[in-house]
Amino acid sequence: MSAHHDVVRREFARQADGFGHRGSFFAAASTADWIDDGARLAADEIVLDAGGGAGDLSRALAGRARQFVVACNGVDSCLLLQRSPDVPKPASLGKYFMDHSIIQLGIYDTGIDAKPGYGDSAQTGMLVPFFEQVAPELPVSMLAEIQSGSLSEVGGALMRDIMLRDVLEQAVAAGDAVPLRRRVREIWRSTLDLWFLVEPQPDPSHTLSIDRIEASGQAIPKVAIEYPAYFADCVERLTGFVQRHAPRARVKHLGSIPTAFHWLGTTRMSTSPADGCVDSALRYHDLENLYVLSTSVFPSASSANPTLTLAALALRLGDHLAPAVPARH
Ligand SMILES: Cc1cc2nc3c(=O)[nH]c(=O)nc-3n(C[C@H](O)[C@H](O)[C@H](O)COP(=O)(O)OP(=O)(O)OC[C@H]3O[C@@H](n4cnc5c(N)ncnc54)[C@H](O)[C@@H]3O)c2cc1C
Repeated sequence: MSAHHDVVRREFARQADGFGHRGSFFAAASTADWIDDGARLAADEIVLDAGGGAGDLSRALAGRARQFVVACNGVDSCLLLQRSPDVPKPASLGKYFMDHSIIQLGIYDTGIDAKPGYGDSAQTGMLVPFFEQVAPELPVSMLAEIQSGSLSEVGGALMRDIMLRDVLEQAVAAGDAVPLRRRVREIWRSTLDLWFLVEPQPDPSHTLSIDRIEASGQAIPKVAIEYPAYFADCVERLTGFVQRHAPRARVKHLGSIPTAFHWLGTTRMSTSPADGCVDSALRYHDLENLYVLSTSVFPSASSANPTLTLAALALRLGDHLAPAVPARH
């Protein structure tokens, strides 16, 4: 992981050298940190607060920046554009919000040593290609992750408590031919916990807007999103699929949860302003010098974690912008 981080950091530094820090502004503190580290940018040439304290882009765009890159994450990039009076507002701004809802399955009595609690994080493996498409008439993908850490969480963690109760129930139901302690241990160690990130379809009625602006200047988001209609079908098919492949195990749908960690859509990429906010080079429609570099530009979501795709977009944007920045000296 750290080798990968170094590669990305070096690549950013190379791109930043291409800018020569001549008139390009970055709204995202993290991006600025990376570049500052490798390319010796002077601090006063990076706008960390995009609105110069005013909370909007108008001041920065009015003559200060040749190129302006908004990279404030999938939610805040959109909010920043929404609250900036001088920024044009395409019809799709704030629409097509997507997040990855999760279906969680417990698989008991698998007959294998599932090593619950093994590994240093809750996520010790991924199983992707199986679920590129749930069914011919259900063209959404699912990304499965093995959550072997859940059963080692402390009491009060939702999935841990549900599963532990199931394990105890099964141990008691198995009778007393074997001591209870041993039955619990055997069932516990052969329990698998999987979660599935479900691909959301872009839907214009799923929106992101500003609920209120706090005294600190922070915009508080308001999200309107519903589980897609096909979600229940995904649960049913998934449970059936796993049960067919593990006929002796007991497969149980533990629950479905919305998540708030992959924020996608709301300033989506499109060929025309009619159905998106940025073009394929991430340039804001109708503004020469404004670019958006966030997962908010994703026009669709897949079910995969988004950050590597965003990193690829960042490198591509660097290539796009670097030649356009004139030499300072
Ligand atoms: C709990 C969790 C787990 C995750 N796990 C994964 C995973 O396993 N794999 C994966 O691919 N992705 C994962 N993600 C998603 C990943 O973190 C995001 O996709 C990624 O960080 C997005 O990068 P970004 O640069 O757009 O935004 P960020 O990394 O959020 O950076 C945006 C920056 O902009 C700053 N900022 C915001 N507003 C302003 C402003 N007005 N002015 C100046 N600066 C501003 C913020 O302070 C922040 O530093 C996870 C996210 C969470 C929360």
